[in-house]
Amino acid sequence: MTTNRKCPICGKPRSAEHTPFCSTRCRDRDLVQWLDDGYAIPGERAPIPTARDEDDI
Ligand SMILES: [Zn+2]
Repeated sequence: MTTNRKCPICGKPRSAEHTPFCSTRCRDRDLVQWLDDGYAIPGERAPIPTARDEDDI
């Protein structure tokens, strides 16, 4: 049985070291795509509005 294992990012033969990718570069690219897909980094939150607005009331 022969399997055609290729890097899903660039299509080059994958490396056993970086499987299923061919290199760390492609692995990082996949990670970036994954992060860009709506994954929020824990600990990084939107700035909380200051209580200064209450003085306007
Ligand atoms: Zn690749």
